[in-house]
Amino acid sequence: MVKKVDYLIVGAGLFGSVFAHEMTKRGKRCLVIDKRPNTGGNVYCENIEGINVHKYGAHIFHTNDKKIWDYVNSFVTFNRYTNSPLANYKGKLYNLPFNMNTFYQLWGVKSPEEAKQKIKEQTDILTFNKPSNLEEQALSLVGRDIYETFIKGYTEKQWGRKATQLPPFIIKRLPVRFTFDNNYFNDTYQGIPIGGYNKLINGLLKNIEVKVAIDYFDNKEYWDTISDKIVYTGKIDEYFEYCFGKLEYRSLRFENTMLNQSNYQGNAVINYTDNETPFTRIIEHKHFEFGKQSNTVITKEYPLELKSGAEPYYPINDKKNNDLYNKYKDLASSKGNIVFGGRLAEYKYYDMHQVIASALQKVQLIASK
Ligand code: FAD
Ligand code: UDP
Repeated sequence: MVKKVDYLIVGAGLFGSVFAHEMTKRGKRCLVIDKRPNTGGNVYCENIEGINVHKYGAHIFHTNDKKIWDYVNSFVTFNRYTNSPLANYKGKLYNLPFNMNTFYQLWGVKSPEEAKQKIKEQTDILTFNKPSNLEEQALSLVGRDIYETFIKGYTEKQWGRKATQLPPFIIKRLPVRFTFDNNYFNDTYQGIPIGGYNKLINGLLKNIEVKVAIDYFDNKEYWDTISDKIVYTGKIDEYFEYCFGKLEYRSLRFENTMLNQSNYQGNAVINYTDNETPFTRIIEHKHFEFGKQSNTVITKEYPLELKSGAEPYYPINDKKNNDLYNKYKDLASSKGNIVFGGRLAEYKYYDMHQVIASALQKVQLIASK
């Protein structure tokens, strides 16, 4: 029988690791378990011949919040990487996000005035008032040319649904700028941990007991008896045995290839925005850390429906799923000794900085009681 812990934390991703770190600092005994063979959740990196391969999808840290930036930098120093992906549309390359470079490449316009005029011509003819789905949102932000070239194909592959069936907020993640600036984010702080994300997770989990390759649900009763409180960061619908039905998630298949050349595509991220290419993007991992290795690892991302065995990477926050989630949330709030947190338990399209903020906030709330 293991000695009783104050917190059993299910999931060694960012939420679980930050929570465990903060509670340990406050004198609580924490035990972290994860069903994967490694810690870190989606930010875990596998070192392949000296290259940090982002095993569960490419991760670029960005935030506007200096406190969060200082927090992560207290565990590992971040480099100066700035995400500037390219779009490959039917063989031609364009800069992203949508900025003066893109407008020049697409239309030949050279001034912000001309670019705005081009977009205005295409948005003036729209007949709806308030955008009610992703397609309408995109059309009203950037017009039809950009929508058809960069958004429709990528989005419908990524989500496996028509853009008209998706919520508008997804496309608002992308900046639209009338300057020649290819930075994918507007945030003040951005970078990649020098030496990889595992350093961040290892720093957070230092001196904390962690057990991997353990599924909480294989022995839930046992884990519940050895802990005062549970922090659960897995799928909220799974926790409640899908009693109201299944929430939908989008999954991905990653196809990794090691190449015997030093530089495959000259950039960390290239999106394939047409409908015919079956993958959404190719990641060349070494460029996140300005790698000088003589070989390289690339990953193609193929979106897929969540079937058993696949990982639930993206919550699909349309109305139907959000309504269902709210039912689970109400049920969760009746469970006083369980904290539900993170991308899967809160069913939110969170970025890393938001997950860290959410964990810090939860700890603060509990500590102030
Ligand atoms: P997770 O990292 O999913 O961790 C949850 C953990 O719980 C997992 O390790 C899982 O194995 C474990 N678990 C679940 N159920 C059980 C169980 N029953 N028993 C034991 N363990 C269990 N954010 C950014 O800021 N920038 C980016 O560039 C970025 N890119 C992304 C790219 C992709 C492809 C994806 C999918 C996400 C990306 N994100 C990015 C988001 C980022 O991954 C998340 O915000 C963050 O990692 C979520 O942390 P988490 O702890 O909530 O969840
Ligand atoms: N998107 C797009 N074309 C692109 C990049 C993104 O249409 O070239 C849309 C797509 O719907 C995607 C969303 O914008 O799901 C958010 O993109 P982001 O790069 O933030 O996605 P993530 O990195 O979270 O997968």
